[in-house]
Amino acid sequence: MALHTSTYGGNGKAPEAIESLSPATGEILGTVPIAGPDEVTAAVARARSAAARWAELTAAGRRAELAAWRRALAARADDLADLIHRENGKPRTDAIFEVMMALSHLHHAGERAEKALRPHRVPSGLMANFRCSVSYHPLGVVGVIGPWNYPIFTPMGSIAYALAAGNAVVFKPSEYTPLVGQLMGEIARQAFTVADVFQVLTGDGRTGAALARAELDKVAFTGSASTGKRVMAAAAERLTPVLMELGGKDPMVVADDADLDKAAEAAVWGAMSNAGQACVSIERCYVVDAVYQPFVDKVLAEARQVRWGADDDAHIGAITMPRQVDVIRDHLEDAVARGARVLLGGPGEIRGHFVPPTVLVDVTPAMKIMSEETFGPILPIQRVATVEDAVVQANATRYGLGSAVFGKARVRELADRVRAGMTSINSALAFAAVPSLPFGGVGDSGFGRIHGDEGLREFTRTKATAEERFSLPVALLTFRLPRNTYDRVRGLIHHLHGGGIVDRVRGKLHL
Ligand code: NAD
Repeated sequence: MALHTSTYGGNGKAPEAIESLSPATGEILGTVPIAGPDEVTAAVARARSAAARWAELTAAGRRAELAAWRRALAARADDLADLIHRENGKPRTDAIFEVMMALSHLHHAGERAEKALRPHRVPSGLMANFRCSVSYHPLGVVGVIGPWNYPIFTPMGSIAYALAAGNAVVFKPSEYTPLVGQLMGEIARQAFTVADVFQVLTGDGRTGAALARAELDKVAFTGSASTGKRVMAAAAERLTPVLMELGGKDPMVVADDADLDKAAEAAVWGAMSNAGQACVSIERCYVVDAVYQPFVDKVLAEARQVRWGADDDAHIGAITMPRQVDVIRDHLEDAVARGARVLLGGPGEIRGHFVPPTVLVDVTPAMKIMSEETFGPILPIQRVATVEDAVVQANATRYGLGSAVFGKARVRELADRVRAGMTSINSALAFAAVPSLPFGGVGDSGFGRIHGDEGLREFTRTKATAEERFSLPVALLTFRLPRNTYDRVRGLIHHLHGGGIVDRVRGKLHL
């Protein structure tokens, strides 16, 4: 992983630079500066002036600028994928997939913004002489603070939509993947004609804290719930609005009429791709009794095929953050101590930064593995009597990000009953790949939405406009009201909403 190290420590002082290390080999991949509060303030000031120029462009002008950045990123797709692979530890194929997904969001946001943010008329109700409309305007400067697990795809969900909605962006990438962030910034500098519309500041939590406290119009944060609370507290000093994309403990529910081959394949991939380090990884699986054993058998057969390691053939690579390995081991040991059975992998097979594909059964809700975000290639499977029980268990969480349901006859109803921001039906994680679907959670998984039209509007100020088209003989919005106004308004209320003398008599007579 790109390890944030105190290269300059040893003297008790905080580091002034970050060494990005490969999680697979420990090799130093590069060194980046840690931006301090003054640099953050200066970058936000530059962004403020860029935002004014950017907002003055026509929608077509912004679309062309975003397309130029997209082409420039695509031209460097190999370099981006290589850096993602080396800094994050994921296999090259996963890395190039990630680049493709990020570009598809940038494409969608750029192309869709004009339509999604077009002003529209709304009914004027009682104010029949008014033309009423809703319009969307850029906020100004958006600060984006990102994680390391999908170093280009995840922040792009905020960056692309914020830019397309007419804002300038200052991006602070994770200290574990700063080189990917730096390269995004370098490519942007060459592609955009509006200087500073997208800037990247490398650094650790201190840089993020300074950004959250800066004069921003919105902070879009993606990371853990605990850091999210600190970001909100810092943003509250200026009443800066926040978007919170936090962690998850995503459930998968398998009904008795599910296609078990598909469900098992999706469960293993959904739990283990990116070594389980996705906010929307399948982290717990509830399977009804009737199909439990065949499902577990199919999962085991599937999971045994998952290759792990640092070589190019591996499906899953190293765990990016060293301390996450300790969390995974702790969750596994806690589960085993409380009676879970390891069918594959397990804590004893962890090798350095590499965690084996692991399947657990006989798990209970009391185990950490079933309640806290594990962020590893782990699939715990719980047997339940009915889908109703599965829904109760799936919803018994503080989180509510993604989810998956497998079944046939009542599967849509089942999907609706899972309390989560997103649900895939007969698939896993599919919603994240569809740019027109809003992405975000409830509860400890955060609030606000990226992606889709909601994701564009998230980075705008909604404005209501009421325009008088003609004057009415009896004006309402004036002190010059006729003497009998009270009686006329009361009559109008009863005319529109009932409750007049006729209704009251009817009520008394129970008609
Ligand atoms: P993290 O919370 O440790 O760090 C996220 C970012 O916050 C980093 O850039 C970090 O430098 C910065 N930061 C740290 N302290 C800060 C502070 N006091 N003020 C401002 N910024 C600060 O999270 P992580 O380990 O990088 O990412 C993993 C987490 O992110 C997991 O919980 C995962 O589920 C979540 N995640 C959520 C989504 C989503 O869209 N919902 C997507 C990806 C990851």
